[in-house]
Amino acid sequence: MSSNTFKIAVMPGDGIGIEVMDACIEVLNAATKKVGGPGLDLQHVNGGAAYYRDHGTDLPDESFEAARNADAILFGAMGLPDVRKVDGTEINPQLDLRFGLELYAGVRPVRVLPGAPTPLGDPRAQEIDLVLIRENTEGLFADIRKPRTESTEQAEDRCLITRKGTERVVEYAFKLAASRPRTRTDARRVTCVDKANVLHSMAFFRSVFDDVKARHPDVDADYGYVDAMALNLVKRPWDYDVMVMENLLGDILSDLTAGIVGGLGMAPSGDIGDAHGLFQPSHGSAPDIAGKGLANPVAMFLSASMMLTWLGTGHGEDQCLEAGALIEKAVADAFVNAALKPSEFGGPHGTADITKAVLNEI
Ligand code: ATP
Repeated sequence: MSSNTFKIAVMPGDGIGIEVMDACIEVLNAATKKVGGPGLDLQHVNGGAAYYRDHGTDLPDESFEAARNADAILFGAMGLPDVRKVDGTEINPQLDLRFGLELYAGVRPVRVLPGAPTPLGDPRAQEIDLVLIRENTEGLFADIRKPRTESTEQAEDRCLITRKGTERVVEYAFKLAASRPRTRTDARRVTCVDKANVLHSMAFFRSVFDDVKARHPDVDADYGYVDAMALNLVKRPWDYDVMVMENLLGDILSDLTAGIVGGLGMAPSGDIGDAHGLFQPSHGSAPDIAGKGLANPVAMFLSASMMLTWLGTGHGEDQCLEAGALIEKAVADAFVNAALKPSEFGGPHGTADITKAVLNEI
C-alpha cells in the first residue's frame, strides 16, 4: 500500500464540469484501487457560476483556502452564459486560482490517441506529440481583474511581460523538454512563439527566452511568429516538441491544438506553479450539451492522469505514477478495443459509454 494519502480539492463547477468530474472520480477510484494506492482524500469544494447565482460569490474564501491547502486541485469547468457579475464580466474563478496560487505554467499536452479520429487527413497526425505551454499569470491577461473603464470612445489592455514571469515559465519549458518521455521522437526542442517582429512586449519575451536558453545547451531552441505557427500547427504539428508563449497566444493556439486531436473533450491541461497544481480539461462548461449525457470525459480523465503523474514526480510516489500511467493507457486502449467515437466527433458515444469503456480497461 501507498504510505501517502493526498488531499485533493475537487471542484466540479458548472455544466458538463459536473458530469465529467463524476465520471473521472469513478476512473480515479478504479485506477488507484487496481494499483493499491495512493490514498486520495477527495474534498468537494464549492465555486462557479451557479454558486455565484445562489450565494453571491463564485469562489468563497474557504474554497480558495481548501484549494491552497490541498496537495492538488482537480477542476471541472466553471461559468454559465446567463450568469454575469454586476459589471457584466464572466464568472472565472479559475483565473483567481491561477493568479492567487501562482500557477504560472499552463501545460497542454497534445497527442492523437491510437484509433482516435483527427480532422487532419495526413497519417503523420498519429505522430503528434507536443506540449503547448501558456504563460498563465501576465501578458494580455495581466489586468483583467481590474475594473473596466467606462469610456464610450476607447478601451485598452496592457500586455505585461516581466523578466520574472517569463523566466520561470521558459525555465519550466526547457526542463520539461529535457525530461519528458516521448512516444515517437528523440527531439528535445523548445519553440518560442511570439510576435517579436511587431510588439515590444513580445520582443522582450523573446530576449528573456534567449537568456534562459543559454542555460540549457542540451535542448534545441527555435522561434515561430504566432501567425505562422497557426499555419504550421495545422500543416505539420508532428514537427513540434515543446512550445512556450504569452497568455493570450496560448489561449488561442491551445484551442487550435485541441481541434487537431479531435476536439476540446480530448485536450487535458495542468496549471502548474512551484507550490501548487490544478488539473482540468481544456474545455469550458459547454452549456449547449450540459445535462444531455454527450460530454466527452476523456480530457478530464487525462487531466487526472496528469495530476497523478505530477504528484508522483513531486513526492517520489511510484504508485501515483503507476495509477497515472494506467489511466492514460486505459483511455488509449478503450479507443482501440471499444472503437470509441465520441459524439463530439459525430459518433454515437456519450459520457456513460466512454466511461464504461475506460473502466473496462482498468
Ligand atoms: P470557456 O470560455 O469557458 O473556455 P468556451 O466558450 O470555449 O468555454 P466550451 O464550453 O469549451 O466553450 O465549448 C465549446 C464547444 O465545444 C461547445 O460547442 C461544446 O459543446 C463543445 N465541447 C466542449 N467540451 C466538450 C466535451 N467535453 N465534449 C463534447 N463537446 C464539448
